Amino acid sequence: MESCIFCKIVRGEIPCSKVYEDDRVLAFDDIHPMAPVHVIVIPKEHVPTLLDVDAGGTDILASLFGAAQIVAKKKGIDQAGFRTVINCNEEGGQVVFHLHMHILGGKRLADELG
Ligand code: AMP
Ligand code: ZN
Repeated sequence: MESCIFCKIVRGEIPCSKVYEDDRVLAFDDIHPMAPVHVIVIPKEHVPTLLDVDAGGTDILASLFGAAQIVAKKKGIDQAGFRTVINCNEEGGQVVFHLHMHILGGKRLADELG
């Protein structure tokens, strides 16, 4: 999608600190980290929100979670623990409308979810 900031990152029009990439997903450090490790994982395909993933289209979610495992290991937070978050729509706190998963770790995270 032309104006989407995450699509621009996929196309290389905006730089990112890449953590992992394969043919389906891209993972990069969040520009405003909320924890010592804060990585964003996105599908390369433009999907606006979690609600836009087909009920049968679980491939995209499997790719995101597969990447989360790899990212957690690469960042060395897999054994200590980490959190995955997908914000959806306004009250869910979604600001960028290209589906993405946050991977947070590197400290003991607060109990509340927000
Ligand atoms: P959300 O509130 O779930 O939509 O999260 C969007 C996230 O994208 C925020 O944590 C932002 O800090 C992050 N973000 C926005 N623009 C960039 C960028 N150019 N590079 C890396 N992270 C970004
Ligand atoms: Zn996009």
